[in-house]
Amino acid sequence: MDVLVIGAGVCGLTTGICLAEAGLGVTIRAAAPPQRTTSVAAGAVWGMVRVGPPERALGWARTGLETLSKLATEPDTGVRMASGKEVSRTPLEPYVWMKLLPGLRPCEPAELPAGFTAGWHYTAPVVTMPVYLDYLRARFERAGGTLEVAAVRSLPELAGIAPVLVNCSGAGAHDLVPDPAVVPVRGQVVIAANPGIEEFYINRDDEPPWITYMFPHGDTVLLGGTNEEGAWDEEPRPYIAERIVAACSAIDPRLRGVEILEHRVGLRPCRPEVRLESEPLDGSILWHNYGHGGAGISLSWGCAAEIAAEILAQ
Ligand SMILES: Cc1cc2nc3c(=O)[nH]c(=O)nc-3n(C[C@H](O)[C@H](O)[C@H](O)COP(=O)(O)OP(=O)(O)OC[C@H]3O[C@@H](n4cnc5c(N)ncnc54)[C@H](O)[C@@H]3O)c2cc1C
Repeated sequence: MDVLVIGAGVCGLTTGICLAEAGLGVTIRAAAPPQRTTSVAAGAVWGMVRVGPPERALGWARTGLETLSKLATEPDTGVRMASGKEVSRTPLEPYVWMKLLPGLRPCEPAELPAGFTAGWHYTAPVVTMPVYLDYLRARFERAGGTLEVAAVRSLPELAGIAPVLVNCSGAGAHDLVPDPAVVPVRGQVVIAANPGIEEFYINRDDEPPWITYMFPHGDTVLLGGTNEEGAWDEEPRPYIAERIVAACSAIDPRLRGVEILEHRVGLRPCRPEVRLESEPLDGSILWHNYGHGGAGISLSWGCAAEIAAEILAQ
């Protein structure tokens, strides 16, 4: 084994793929398999939310946009280009990253829900996470990688197991590193039968811990959600699900009485800055790749490519 990657969310899998496709022997060790990570709960649209530092993150996001846009042209990846809008009750300037997206334009007044005064319409990669995670896992294994489900109790216990380790443990880095700068921001979402919604919808008004959004995924629609700082609990709470469905139904009445199929909860690994750097660990090199906040799907390919280039150069 040349590299041991800790974590099988979107960051661990993309890092594993970049290294295995470059010819290295890679094992991923993860406490939870891909379908039981935070990554599976994501909406998910390309964008930069709750992540830093701004310049570096923008670079990683650009790589992510390129890669996801390419995957959207391939079958069975779970990625497609989709249109939708971000709206607000107060004036809303487009973010720098929005300007990279095709078709960015202000919403017409008729496109805004009642009570909203501003909005931006654009096209971006939208990812159906359960399908995408299966695609990433299969691609990693096709490149010769191995995935084992087991928890790592401490980083020092891994010294000597491989010349290079990569820590992609998401919110788990809070205890594993340990890194108190990593704070979980709990997001709960509802998966419902899709009554015919075709465009995504995001309300940018800050009403912590609530945020209202909808992402159609063919026959289903993902409804959100919450941003609960410091909450570690991963059990869906029924009153939150009810409030999410009510808030989304107020925007799109087709959702009234909709069939609920599933509940998901994820812990966004928020940190003032993504930690992407290496340190020595008892004869091995330990890379850190965690703290992607609300943008891990969008940044993962950029971060993975940077780490792979550094490891291959060494
Ligand atoms: C509701 C919601 C909506 C979101 N929407 C978007 C979006 O639209 N766009 C976007 O880009 N991002 C979005 N995000 C953010 C994105 O989901 C995260 O940034 C991303 O999933 C983090 O990926 P990760 O691989 O770092 O962590 P995770 O997916 O949490 O994976 C961590 C892995 O590490 C393993 N692990 C942890 N500790 C240990 C240990 N001690 N030993 C072994 N293994 C360990 C876990 O078992 C898991 O396999 C959203 C998140 C949520 C919750």
